[in-house]
Amino acid sequence: MNIHEYQGKEILRKYGVMVPNGKVAFTVEEAVEAAKELGTQVCVVKAQIHAGGRGKAGGVKVAKNLDEVRIYANEILGKTLVTHQTGPEGKEVKRLLIEEGCDIKKEYYVGLVLDRVTSRVVLMASEEGGTEIEEVAAKTPEKIFKEVIDPVLGLMPYQARRIALRINIPKELMNQAVKFMMGLYQAYIEKDCSIAEINPLVVTGDGKVMALDAKLNFDDNAVSRQKDIVAYRDIEEEDPKEIEASKFDLSYISLEGNIGCMVNGAGLAMATMDIVKHYGGDPANFLDCGGGATAEKVTGAFKIILADPNVKGIFVNIFGGIMKCDVIAEGVIEAIKQEGLNVPLVVRLEGTNVDVGKKLIAESGFNIISAQSMSDGAQKIVSLVG
Ligand code: ADP
Ligand code: MG
Repeated sequence: MNIHEYQGKEILRKYGVMVPNGKVAFTVEEAVEAAKELGTQVCVVKAQIHAGGRGKAGGVKVAKNLDEVRIYANEILGKTLVTHQTGPEGKEVKRLLIEEGCDIKKEYYVGLVLDRVTSRVVLMASEEGGTEIEEVAAKTPEKIFKEVIDPVLGLMPYQARRIALRINIPKELMNQAVKFMMGLYQAYIEKDCSIAEINPLVVTGDGKVMALDAKLNFDDNAVSRQKDIVAYRDIEEEDPKEIEASKFDLSYISLEGNIGCMVNGAGLAMATMDIVKHYGGDPANFLDCGGGATAEKVTGAFKIILADPNVKGIFVNIFGGIMKCDVIAEGVIEAIKQEGLNVPLVVRLEGTNVDVGKKLIAESGFNIISAQSMSDGAQKIVSLVG
């Protein structure tokens, strides 16, 4: 789960991580009001979307007076920002953060991520802040420093100090930087984050160490015990297809391709995407309709795929174990009855009640192509989509 920058900063503030004062605004009037209340000489108007790279895309503007706040708020609110993280369709800005302007002396990068290879949280930092860290990693990996954190001991102050030294934080600000990183780590652990990225962390003209940006992501498997984090959820930032799928308790992830896939079991769903790719196709989604799905759930799942305008063909790949083939067939047929079918549909059924399932499909009267095997099905749908 993802939250907005201003929400991330609210959390960090509670952990003693210094952030600039700021207020969220949903309208231009609220933005001007927020700037008045802040009362600082310079204000920054920042688009709040669940994506980074806003600065380059015109979503972060420095305003020197209230008139400029009004101009920039007007310009950014309602605008569709396209950044390297939004995809080509971009994201519409519906909230702004009005924040006090900061006298930046130097920008750094500090992040905490889970390294799945070592199963450890890693503190990463670089002197090359403010820019895309992916670029730094690709071109000058020697400028990124890491500390692997022992899960029992947690981040040790000496590790934070070592990182601060390596990225050349001024000596007199060392203690502040250590406090910053310790607070960030505490927040990461207590709030079940999967990523906590501060880019940039800044050193200011008046000798402060601050987080100017905050990207906090949370482990979806842990949000059930993080009520205050769930309250930060902004449905409008999420993919409507994924929200719909979550209502049916389906594991669904939108992808960029045009072949809709409906599969039971996460492993088979992964393998299905692989085989579609292998034969030159591109999956439009990952969908695992689970083991013991009902016909209603299958109908719900199939409707989500049908409603996706990018889908030019559908591949249903079922290995019936706990899931019965006839239940799948029923669910698919019901969805087509309700929504119609105007793209090719290839169905591969195997396992429990396969004969009943195949019979239901054959007698449905719909133009459904049946496949003998997984690779047969993948080849058929790829060639039909073209
Ligand atoms: P993004 O990473 O999405 O581009 P940031 O929050 O990192 O957004 O902002 C981009 C840049 O804008 C920062 O690197 C910093 O130089 C500047 N900036 C952001 N917030 C402030 C602020 N409160 N005061 C001064 N400059 C800021
Ligand atoms: Mg940033």
